[in-house]
Amino acid sequence: SKSAGKNRITLYDATLDAERLRKTDIEDGIRKGLENDEFDVVYQPIVEARSGVISSVEALVRWPRRPEGAMMPDQFIDVAECSGLIHPLGQFVLRKACLDLGAVPGLRLSVNLSPAQFRDPELEAKVAKTLEETGFPVERLELEVTEGYLIENPARAVAAIANLKALGLSMALDDFGTGYSSIGYLRRYAFDKIKIDKSLAGTVDRDPQAAALVAGTVAIAQALHISVTAEGVETEDHVRLLKLAGCQYLQGFYYSRPKPLAEVLAWCKDTTET
Ligand code: C2E
Ligand code: CA
Ligand code: CA
Ligand code: CA
Repeated sequence: SKSAGKNRITLYDATLDAERLRKTDIEDGIRKGLENDEFDVVYQPIVEARSGVISSVEALVRWPRRPEGAMMPDQFIDVAECSGLIHPLGQFVLRKACLDLGAVPGLRLSVNLSPAQFRDPELEAKVAKTLEETGFPVERLELEVTEGYLIENPARAVAAIANLKALGLSMALDDFGTGYSSIGYLRRYAFDKIKIDKSLAGTVDRDPQAAALVAGTVAIAQALHISVTAEGVETEDHVRLLKLAGCQYLQGFYYSRPKPLAEVLAWCKDTTET
């Protein structure tokens, strides 16, 4: 009816307003949060499948000291990306992680790089400066990037990835198997690693198609001399099937949730001593 249509339009507008308000609030919050030291970095172990030894950790941002209550990255990274605040936020995470992990010999470090950070022409220079200032060994650093901006500006993405690799670090294609990520990217961009998304890797026990896609991805990666990490490893079945499919690295709650630095260091100490 006519009145139902009218109501629907009103509701639609209200939702848009609320969404705009949410974004402005969060944007202000991130800006203040960066000034007031409200952000932290936690670390999730990534295990070498064959040996079970922890080979690296992924740095993940947290916002525990937000005055209105803690918020997870899925709720604010997109706002940071749209507002440009991803540049200082990303820089904060990289610096903190390099400082935290620099003194742990042998352990590699993965840091998420939002594709929106490629918009910053100074990105490569800033990464180089952070490595220099923190003394973190560049060959132990990996940056994980999702495919978004690879579509937005492929020429800049190709250049940025080449420049970053020239510094001596390695590059991973994150969230493979979702969105637009395609085999074409593996040819165009010089990635060293693929991270198979948990929506795919975490369903190999239930979905034969997912299992086939993981095995196919591993085969393609092997042909291109790219290594593969499976995300979302939650059960012993996942471990068994993903190892069988040929994934070299495994990451997920089965091994550990993301944890504060002190707990990860204790965990590393335990696994190397026993
Ligand atoms: P991501 O890069 O794919 O990170 C993996 C996410 O999966 C993390 O969520 C992690 O806690 C979660 N996870 C790990 N193992 C399992 C598992 O076994 N099962 C399930 N269900 N989940 C698992 P988190 O920390 O909430 O981060 C979500 C996303 O936010 C990240 O996805 C990444 O895209 C983004 N993000 C987090 N920290 C940063 C950052 O410092 N910079 C940027 N640019 N993005 C970040
Ligand atoms: Ca990641
Ligand atoms: Ca991922
Ligand atoms: Ca993700």
